[in-house]
Formats: sequence, C-alpha cells, structure tokens
Amino acid sequence: MSEEKEQRLTGLPVSPGIAMGMLRVEARDCAAPPMWPIELKDIPSEWERFEAALVRTEAEIEELKQRVERISGASEAAIFDAHLLFLRDSTVLSRLNKELPTRLQNIESVYYAVVQNFMEVMRAVDDPYLRSRVLDIRDVLQRVLRNLKPSSTPTQTHPEPSGNSILAAYELTPGDTADLDKSRVLGFVTETGSTMSHTAILARSLGLPAVVAVPRLVMDSRTGSPAILDGYNGILILNPSAETQKQYNALRAEREKAYSELVQMRDLPTDTLDGRHIRLAANVEFAHEFKSIRESGAEGVGLYRTEFFLLGVDAQGMPDEEAQYEHYRRLVEACTPHEVIFRTLDAGGDKLPFEPSPEKEDNPALGWRGIRVSLSRENIFKQQLRAVLRASAHGRVGIMFPMVSGITEVRAALKLMDECREELRQSKIPFDEKMRVGIMIEVPGAAMMADVLAKYVDFFSIGTNDLTQYTIAVDRVNHRVASIFRVTHPGVVRLMARTMQTGIPTSICGEMGGDISLVPLLVGLGATEISVGTHLLPIVRIAIRHLNYEECRTMAQQALQAEDSATIRELSHRLALKSYPQLF
Ligand code: PEP
Ligand code: MG
Repeated sequence: MSEEKEQRLTGLPVSPGIAMGMLRVEARDCAAPPMWPIELKDIPSEWERFEAALVRTEAEIEELKQRVERISGASEAAIFDAHLLFLRDSTVLSRLNKELPTRLQNIESVYYAVVQNFMEVMRAVDDPYLRSRVLDIRDVLQRVLRNLKPSSTPTQTHPEPSGNSILAAYELTPGDTADLDKSRVLGFVTETGSTMSHTAILARSLGLPAVVAVPRLVMDSRTGSPAILDGYNGILILNPSAETQKQYNALRAEREKAYSELVQMRDLPTDTLDGRHIRLAANVEFAHEFKSIRESGAEGVGLYRTEFFLLGVDAQGMPDEEAQYEHYRRLVEACTPHEVIFRTLDAGGDKLPFEPSPEKEDNPALGWRGIRVSLSRENIFKQQLRAVLRASAHGRVGIMFPMVSGITEVRAALKLMDECREELRQSKIPFDEKMRVGIMIEVPGAAMMADVLAKYVDFFSIGTNDLTQYTIAVDRVNHRVASIFRVTHPGVVRLMARTMQTGIPTSICGEMGGDISLVPLLVGLGATEISVGTHLLPIVRIAIRHLNYEECRTMAQQALQAEDSATIRELSHRLALKSYPQLF
C-alpha cells in the first residue's frame, strides 16, 4: 500500500470499527503543509529555503510593527517583538535541526510538527500568560509556512485526500464531532480525549470508528499518509504494509458478518432466562439516527440527548417551541408504540456551551450545567417542556431532567411542568396527562436522597458516566486520569444499588450499560431498563437473554460486599463469561 515504513500509534479505542483510507491531519492551529520525502543531501538547500522564509517573515513583522506603532503607539506594537523573538527561538531551531535528518521530510513539514508540539507544551503549562502566547506563535507559524516557497516540484508529495479520509486532530470538541460530515470522514483519531467524553459518545452514535489519547499524534502523522484506524483495539497504523492491509480487510469482513448475525435477532424479547423483562432502549443524539432505532430492535428511546439538536453547531439560534415540537413529534412517531424519553437540555460542563460567556468557569463540571442552566432560563426551559408535552399527544413520551443534585431542583422543575400543562390546557392543546416524568441520577447527593426523590418522580435514569465522575472525583474527559475512571468502584456501585432499592423503575443510560461484562451486575442490582447506543443494542440483547436474574441478584449481593473495583468487575465478568461465552 505504501513505500514508507509501517508505523503503529496506540491510544484508547472509543468507537468500534475499522477505517481504511488517507489521513487528514487537522491540528487545531493551522492546516498542515504538504509533506514530501527528502534525502540527506537536500538538507542544506532545505535550510536555505527556510532561512529565506525567516528573512521574509522578519521583514513582514517589522513592517507590521511600524504600522501598528504609527496608529496605536509603541506599547501596542511591542507584541511584535515577541513574534520576532519566537522566529529565531533557539529551542525550536535546534529541535528542527535534530528532527530534519531523522525524519527526512521537507522542512516546512518538520517545522510545522516541531512548532505544533511546542504550542501543546505551552498550553499544558498552568500559566495563563504562556497559554495566551500560543496565539502569537500560531501567527508566526502561519507566516513562515506562507513564506516557505518550494524550491522545486516535490517528487512524492502526499496528495490532499479528495474524498473520504480518516481525520487526525489534536482535539475534537463535542461540537466539532457533531459537525463532522459523515460522507467525508471515515473515522477519527485524536491526541487528547477519553472513553466517557461526549466526543467519544458522539463517535459511537455517528457509527464512526474512533481512537483517542494517542500521544504525539499530530507530530507523527501527515496529511495524505495511507492509514488504517482500528477502533476495536485503539490503533492507528500509518503506511500499512500490504500484509497488514490484508489482515484488516479480513478482520473487517469477519466483524461485519458477526454483527449482522446479531442484528438478525433484533425481534427477540429481552427477557432473562427466568423471565424478567429488561427494557432495552436506545440512546440517541441525532435526527439521522431516528431510522436506525427501529432497525436495531430497540424498545424505544431511553435517552434522547436533546442538546445536540437544540445547540447544534449549524442551527440558526435555538429552535423555537414549534420547531422543537415538530422535531420531537417525528421521533415519537418513529418509535411508536414504544416510549421515547426526552432528556431536557444538558448544556455546559464538557458539552456544548449554552451561550458564549466571557467568564471562564474554573470547574465547569461543577458549574453552570444541566438543570441549573434550564432553571435559570425559565422561558427557554418552558418552551422545551411544552414542546415535549405536545409531542406526547402523538405516542408514548417521558421526560427527564439532567444533573439533578437534590429536591429543590426537582420541585422547581416540576412546578414549571405544572405551569406548562396548565397553559396547554388553557389553549386546548392536547398532551398526555400521564406523561412520565423522571430524573437522572448522576450526582452522589441525588443518589443518597433517592428514597425521597422517588416520591416526586415516576422513574430514575442512572447516568453512570457522570455518577462515576462525581463519586470518585475523576474527570471523565481527562486522558491523564482515564485509567482510574472505574464504573465498578464500590462507592459508585453502592450508590446505584441505593437508587434501585427505592423500587421505582430505574434505567441505566450511561456507557456502562453497553459493557457486556457488566450487564449481569446491572441486572442483578435491579435495573429495569438499559439504554445504549444503537450499535451496541444487538450484543446487549443477546447478553440479557442468556442471563438468569436470580443468579445475577446473588452475584450483585456479593459485589456489594466487595472492597475494590477489580473484584466487582471480576464477579460480573465471570458470570457474563459463563452465561454467554460466545460474545467474548
Ligand atoms: C451520563 O452521565 O452517564 C449520561 C448518560 O449523560 P451524558 O453522558 O450525556 O452526560
Ligand atoms: Mg450525564
């Protein structure tokens, strides 16, 4: 497939599948320049080109400096002194000198990688001044690249991928991910990220293979390189050999066949061997998924994350009540006769921001997010409540509130619900008077108070991603602590058990529900529903059907006595392996 040597970069697998194609590197600062190989003998002429570019850039910056000085004064123009200093920065230049003979690639491409790396190091330092300097460096980088004119036509430039490609980026925000054009992107890989991040969750719902937390990704990869992205094992293979390519073609065919066999069983009920029904529903983020809900055999939707629709990157502002009603109605009709549970706007934290704010939140996960945003924007919240209520006239609907930390928020939200019902009655607009209302259990304080909260709502939905984050104080999006993000931490499991002991219907809608090693634990703790991304539904269905509820209960009781997360995982995994060895 390629003349260049095969190279494997490893990260965390976050969305299954295999993508094969060309790489498109999008560093967050400026587009990667074209790359071509050079020989040792070319190095002096590469330096000559580079020196000429530095001289041209110096002249440009000097001129800019003088212009700004004339208009705004010397102090405003001083910023350009910093640009000039960076241009001849000895750390960057000596790194370039070292990397050039090792990489044997054109100088702009190596310079780009070195400066990108430099910027990331500065960003990582906990110093606002240094972080703000990154913008200056980017400016210089762009100028130098513009001024670096190729000496001759490169012999073997990697072409810009024209069609589908694998996207490699330093970082993708949930907004960037939601905005990916699926017809052009085969999969993505990032240098940062973690399994529970919304970026990872979105990759799964978009059906895109994805790998995150790959060290030196931007530094080591090049636009136009042939690549294979293995979303099962978390590997990016650059310049795969013909042999590797053959292996992956075979693996892809095998996985696709196994998956389509599982999908054939979509109409089988999700009852345990001893007859306990577990509702198996879908987690949904995007309208394009509405069709696949029925195809996956889901018993409706257990979690519709409405924020991606409400704050969609392309949206012209937030959709009004009417537009929301039409959209929700479409989903309800697509799922009839099953229930759709709408989660009200969950903005803030690591998700999409609700509105641009000049103030930076020091602890966004503990800040203005979830129900807190909705309760402080009553009119907007009520529009959503009314739209969901109106959709309930067209099928079975439930609504739930995210990030609830206690009774005060529940009371406030229920009061607004009552007001909305009354407004609709007054206007003679139909809705389901019996529409179920629930809350997400994601905050330890709410789990501890579950017995009280259960008196106010019809159901709970445990968001294991956030419940774990808040219970064991491990940021779900920070790759440095990703390895200690343990959903089976005894503290988390006990809070889940406490929630389920209240006896009201309780669903699991976090990523834990899709881990077939842990399905026995969830069933044994008393989950009445599991809601997962549609791609995971077929496998979870088979798992549930091979479990014995009583056996799960006994195992869960043992798990509640365990002292550490590994023991709990092992207990559940052992039962899973015994019940459905064919799935492992
Ligand atoms: C969760 O926290 O587990 C959850 C389902 O909500 P989200 O992932 O959207 O925060
Ligand atoms: Mg959550």
